[in-house]
Amino acid sequence: MKKKFRLGPTDVLLVIDMQNGFCAGGALAVLGADEIVPLVNEIAKRFEHVVLTQDWHLERHRSFASAHKGCRPFETVELPYGPQVLWPDHCIRGSQSAAFHPALDIPHAELIVRKGYHPEIDSYSAFFENDRTTRTGLGGYLRERGFVRVFLVGLALDFCVRYSAEDARKLGFDAVILEDACRAIDMDGSLDAARKSFAALGIACVASGSIGAPAARRQSSPTSPGI
Ligand SMILES: [Zn+2]
Repeated sequence: MKKKFRLGPTDVLLVIDMQNGFCAGGALAVLGADEIVPLVNEIAKRFEHVVLTQDWHLERHRSFASAHKGCRPFETVELPYGPQVLWPDHCIRGSQSAAFHPALDIPHAELIVRKGYHPEIDSYSAFFENDRTTRTGLGGYLRERGFVRVFLVGLALDFCVRYSAEDARKLGFDAVILEDACRAIDMDGSLDAARKSFAALGIACVASGSIGAPAARRQSSPTSPGI
């Protein structure tokens, strides 16, 4: 029987980069991204605690092909911190591309983590930038709030969801990816590599039907007579 996850107060949902730039019509559109918005909204309702991430770049960001003479999007270059895929210009702060998908409806989200705002460093993960040492602060935030288990949905499964899940795990959280509420870029074997990494690190990758209703909240008032 497949494992069911019962949600409780130490669970948090991390919604990765559900922004126009990664959806239909966006510069870096992920195939099928728009389809998952209703499911992401529905899943978020099952969680008491939700955190959103938002890719948030300056113009001429080092991860943009346009910032490298003679380079094209999706080429890989060597930056001081290692190899970096070059992307089309996307999610420039304050732009329509950086805004959340208009149908994303998670008003109870408690925090929005912006990432990729350092001009020279990209950030796939919600926890560490691509130099793998600069922290976003999210790990400390989640720990301080007493969260134990991080569920992940969003874009893209084989990049920002992958790196966020891996770092959550490395920082000592349990990590569970709700795969039907993610979409992948799948470039040069990136999706296969992601799946291998999930298996190696003990990151669960399951359907969203695997999470049950939230555990009943403790009644703070006495039960009414007659019930
Ligand atoms: Zn980006």
